[in-house]
Amino acid sequence: MDFSITAEQAALRRSVIRFARTELNDAAAESDRLARLDRESWKKCAGLGITGWPVPTAYGGSGFDPVTIAVGLEALGYGCRDNGLVFALNNHLWACAVYLVEHGTEDQKQRFLPGLADGSLIGAHALTEPGSGSDVLGMRTAAVREGDEYVLHGTKTFISNAPVADVFLTFARTGGPDAPAAAALTAFVVSRDLPGVSVSRSWDKAGLRSTEMGQVEFEGCRVPASCLLGAEGNGFNLFTSSIDWERSLLFASQIGVMDRVLDDCVAHARDRVQFGRPIGVNQAVRHRIADMKVRLELARLALYKAAWRKREGQLAPLDSAIAKLAISESHLSSMLDAVQLHGARGYLAEFGVERELRDALGGTIYGGTSEIQRDIVASLLGVPS
Ligand SMILES: Cc1cc2nc3c(=O)[nH]c(=O)nc-3n(C[C@H](O)[C@H](O)[C@H](O)COP(=O)(O)OP(=O)(O)OC[C@H]3O[C@@H](n4cnc5c(N)ncnc54)[C@H](O)[C@@H]3O)c2cc1C
Repeated sequence: MDFSITAEQAALRRSVIRFARTELNDAAAESDRLARLDRESWKKCAGLGITGWPVPTAYGGSGFDPVTIAVGLEALGYGCRDNGLVFALNNHLWACAVYLVEHGTEDQKQRFLPGLADGSLIGAHALTEPGSGSDVLGMRTAAVREGDEYVLHGTKTFISNAPVADVFLTFARTGGPDAPAAAALTAFVVSRDLPGVSVSRSWDKAGLRSTEMGQVEFEGCRVPASCLLGAEGNGFNLFTSSIDWERSLLFASQIGVMDRVLDDCVAHARDRVQFGRPIGVNQAVRHRIADMKVRLELARLALYKAAWRKREGQLAPLDSAIAKLAISESHLSSMLDAVQLHGARGYLAEFGVERELRDALGGTIYGGTSEIQRDIVASLLGVPS
C-alpha cells in the first residue's frame, strides 16, 4: 500500500498553501465579524482554478481526480484561516457543481459548468426545509408539471451561499400522495434570476460566518423542464449517490485546519512559559497534543480512503459516512483542545483560536448529523432499524 502523494500533488499542495497564506488571510477576521463572503478572495480562488477543480476540462475546469482534489483542499484548509470562505467554496463544488458533472445533460453542462468552474456563478444546495432536516423524504416543496415547465412552491432553509448564489441545486416532490417515498422526489437546477425565486432572509450563525446562509422561497417559480436533473422521480437516488462527495471531499479542508491548529498548539506548548518552564513539559499538555495528532491522522486516513474509492468510480456510502463522522467529530474535539491549551488566548477573539472552535461546531450537523451518519453505518452493516 502506497501512502505517498505524487510529485504533482506535492507541488499543488505547496502552491495552494503559499497562495492561501499570501492572498486569503488578511480579510479572515473581518469577514467573520461582518458575516460576509469576501468576494475578492472568492475571485482569487477562482483565478487559481479552485472553483472548477472537479469540473472536466471540456467545460472549463481542471478535471482533477478526487485524490488530487483532496490534497488541494487539505492544503487550502491548512493555508487559509478564513474557514467560511473555504466552506463556501466546498458547498459550491460538492453540493452543486458535482451534481451537474455527474447527472447533467450535455445542454445543462454547457450552460452551467463553465460559469461555475470559473467562479463567475456561485452554486448552492437547497435541500433542507423548516419541517424537513434529517428527514429528507419529509420535504413539502412541490413541483407540478405544466407543459414544458415545472411550477415550484416551497421554502428551503439554512442554505449555505444562498444570499450570494446564482444557481440552486434543489429537490421537490413530484410524486402524488400515493408515490412510494423514494420515488417522490425530483432534482432541479434553478437559476436565481427566474421569476418566483427569492432569498427571503439571511441567518446569523455561530461559526463559518463568512459563508452567507439564507432561506430560499419558490413561489410559483416556473422552471423549464430542461432544468430537471436526472429523471423525474429519481431525485432521491440522485441525492444518495452524490451525497458521497459532500460527506467526504467537503471535509478535506477540515483535515488541513486540524493540521494547522496542531502546529499552532505545538508552537504554543514550546513558547508559553509558566512556572519557569514551557507548558509543553507537562504531561497533561503533551498528551493533549498527542491525542490531536492521533485524531488528525485517523481522520486523514478515512478521507483518503473515501477519495480513493471515488477516484476508482465507486459509490462510497459507508466510507463517506465514516469519513464525515470521523473528520467532523475529530475536528470539533481538537478545536476544544486547542482552546484549552491556549488558556485565555484560546478564548479571546483577538487570537483567532475561538473562531476555529466556532467554525468546527457546524460540521457535526451539516451534510447529515453525526447521529444520522451512525444510523447509516449501522444500516449498512445490516443492523435492523
Ligand atoms: C453550517 C450549516 C450549513 C448548512 N448548509 C446547508 C445547505 O447548504 N443546504 C441545505 O439544504 N441544508 C444545509 N444545512 C442544514 C443541515 O443539512 C441540517 O441542519 C441537518 O440536515 C439537520 O437537520 P435539522 O437542523 O433540521 O435537525 P433535525 O433533523 O431536526 O435534528 C435535530 C436533532 O435530532 C437528531 N435526530 C433527528 N432524527 C434522528 C434520527 N432518526 N435518529 C437519531 N437522531 C435523530 C439529529 O441528529 C439532531 O441531533 C446546514 C446546516 C448548518 C449547521
